[in-house]
Amino acid sequence: MLGVSTRLAPFGTTIFSEMTALALKHGAVNLAQGFPDFDGPEFARVSLADAVAQGHNQYGPMPGAPVLRRAIAADFAARAGVQTDPDREITVTCGCTEAIAAVMLGLINPGDEVVLFEPFYDSYRAAVAMAGGVARFVALRPPRSDGPGAFEFDEAELRAAFTPRTKMILVNTPHNPTGKVFTRAELQLIAELCVHHGVVAVADEVYEHLVFEPNLPHLHLASFEGMRKRTITLSSLGKTFSYTGWKIGWAIAPEGLTAGIRAAHQFLTFSPAHPMQHAAAALIPAGAPAIAELVALLRSNREFLAGVLREIGLRVFMPAGTYFIMADHSGLDRKNPKLAGLTAGDDRAFCRWLTEHVGVAAIPPSVFYDRPELGHHLARFAFVKKRATLEESARRLRSSFGIAG
Ligand code: GLN
Repeated sequence: MLGVSTRLAPFGTTIFSEMTALALKHGAVNLAQGFPDFDGPEFARVSLADAVAQGHNQYGPMPGAPVLRRAIAADFAARAGVQTDPDREITVTCGCTEAIAAVMLGLINPGDEVVLFEPFYDSYRAAVAMAGGVARFVALRPPRSDGPGAFEFDEAELRAAFTPRTKMILVNTPHNPTGKVFTRAELQLIAELCVHHGVVAVADEVYEHLVFEPNLPHLHLASFEGMRKRTITLSSLGKTFSYTGWKIGWAIAPEGLTAGIRAAHQFLTFSPAHPMQHAAAALIPAGAPAIAELVALLRSNREFLAGVLREIGLRVFMPAGTYFIMADHSGLDRKNPKLAGLTAGDDRAFCRWLTEHVGVAAIPPSVFYDRPELGHHLARFAFVKKRATLEESARRLRSSFGIAG
């Protein structure tokens, strides 16, 4: 009998499916898997219905519907200041997750090294492994102070991760799960290392619009000196417009790199759902008000959830971007009888306990590390929820931890 291939066996089932299933089973509020419990702008649903009615119901072109690729190019030029040719340099994928797989399968040869920051979004490592690549890890460590966006890497550790076999570095900014927004100085260093070592950078910018600190704006790696020709910029519709189920993502890359991406993409999905692409093309140029509204909600939700997590005794690392909060549970008062049976320093046990006994689901971040011990004291909470949903989590958390309010 066949089982899971040796390439994929180490990765098990993704934590998102596992925790969402557990949340459903226990009727828990799902602050685990990151998706909104509301829809994006209504006009986009009307555009989608129109696209279906107008007959965009057969396969779209393999690189993506031209109207959508033009919209992506115009938007990227306006925001990043980087001009791209939509015919030769943009590929529309089935969400950013497919783009990550297409990048690795289309450009990485067995034995090539790829530098990843840990914690990392779980598909990165699996995609490197599917391509036969070798991942090298650089840790993002929690800050000593509570300041925003302050997970940090060690410059020497990053420099040491580059070897003669390094072909690629993957930079996710704003960063899931830490909420870190990479600073200009950090991106400058990464850019210099890429240029020096002749390495390609993959910038996963799916949370590019979701930033909260005026002094920490999102910066596009492709706009740094020497990076235009060696950067693959990935983004998607899902996070920006609260349509995660539409699965529309894209890769922007110079022609030679795009050739590799398309070589894989044509055999992975060929192209994502065609009507969605037409609706996306209408949404992107008209989406600014919806984005502003979402960011305002997230900014206020961030404060609210951070406050509740602090009340129950967690140390909160305030995110500068994304819709996730990382919090340290190692300081919880275990003498509190309400916490009976809870093992210290085990994020899986903590998140299962929260889901089963408190009714609030979170993600145990150790699964996002090569060195899981770096994440054992943490838990990740998503705050892309209606305020009423967060208030319900607050009620459950406060009552389980014996706090009036
Ligand atoms: N990106 C989302 C998260 O981090 C989940 C993606 C998924 O479910 N595969 O929670």
